[in-house]
Amino acid sequence: MTVKTVPQRILVTGGAGFLGSHLCEALLRSGHHVTCLDNFSTGLRRNVRHLEHTDRFNLIEHDIVTPLNLEVDQIFNLACPASPPHYQADPVHTTLTCVLGSMNLLELAQRHGARIFQASTSEVYGDPSVHPQVESYWGNVNSFGPRACYDEGKRCAETLFFDYHKSHGVSIKIARIFNTYGPRMRPDDGRVVSNFIVQALKGDDITIYGDGSQTRSFCFVDDLIDGFLRLMASPDTLTGPVNLGNPCEFTVGELARHVIELTGSSSKMVHCPLPTDDPRQRRPNISLAMRELDWQPRTTLLAGLKRTIRHFDRLLANPDHEFAE
Ligand code: NAD
Ligand code: UDP
Repeated sequence: MTVKTVPQRILVTGGAGFLGSHLCEALLRSGHHVTCLDNFSTGLRRNVRHLEHTDRFNLIEHDIVTPLNLEVDQIFNLACPASPPHYQADPVHTTLTCVLGSMNLLELAQRHGARIFQASTSEVYGDPSVHPQVESYWGNVNSFGPRACYDEGKRCAETLFFDYHKSHGVSIKIARIFNTYGPRMRPDDGRVVSNFIVQALKGDDITIYGDGSQTRSFCFVDDLIDGFLRLMASPDTLTGPVNLGNPCEFTVGELARHVIELTGSSSKMVHCPLPTDDPRQRRPNISLAMRELDWQPRTTLLAGLKRTIRHFDRLLANPDHEFAE
């Protein structure tokens, strides 16, 4: 989707990350002025290097835990490590990023009358007892386990967004994002799609955590970004939360078999311990997004995996591979 409005001054926090860099690109394509803000904890400069020639693009190194002031019309808050090993590496900073970081951006939105989007997550449903997950389900989250810094941080961010909306009239949009993959994930990201593809391409063992029967539903990045743009452009009354993800559900074992087949790899599958509190099943109910945003994913898992495999193939052959893909 391209947003046909007058050009806006848009802040994308976490803009040098996997999703953020694709979002910056899409916003620039629509003619907007984009400020990409990042602390480069998991994001990479090379993700946005191809955008730096545009005079409508501006890159700022900043941590959202520290307050900031910028003239903006819209804010997309994507700043937060998303991969379990990355968000668990400094759990206190992850919670602060979600909570203090969100509050700093909500203050900014209030000061400038800007609309603000929050990249929330399917992790707010925890290890869900309702399947598929619908927005009205309150979730099943361990408040002090290893995933809590992220899950509870994102839940508290949703609370802050709604309280700034109700108390201060801030225009909010909350997307609950389900597992998304695609080009520009880091080879050392640690999430399942990038791990399996990199392992397969290198001929290393494919590390299946647990017996591989746990499920996830994988959305290709282009489909997700289209959902972001539609949600941000929707009427003020649609605050969300809105599930954005692909409702086709696969076991982790099935994913491994698809990756091995598509790469033609001779890698073997090995089983490793299942991480604590790893959700057993996950699949979005996307009726709300279909109805209100006329949105649904278009890319099949096999088509999306092929494009992602090509990205990693080039990257492994040449670590300086230009990321303008
Ligand atoms: P990512 O790790 O590639 O990107 C996160 C970006 O935020 C990085 O560039 C990182 O350097 C930056 N960042 C982290 N903490 C920051 C801070 N305190 N201040 C400034 N910048 C900071 O992850 P991603 O997959 O692109 O995820 C982007 C957002 O989407 C995250 O908020 C994540 O929680 C959310 N999300 C992603 C998925 C997914 O499957 N990709 C699923 C659910 C939610
Ligand atoms: N997983 C796996 N092998 C890996 C990485 C992850 O089997 O090398 C599993 C993980 O235990 C989980 C699923 O794949 O059940 C998705 O993990 P990921 O970290 O990508 O995302 P999340 O658990 O946050 O959904």
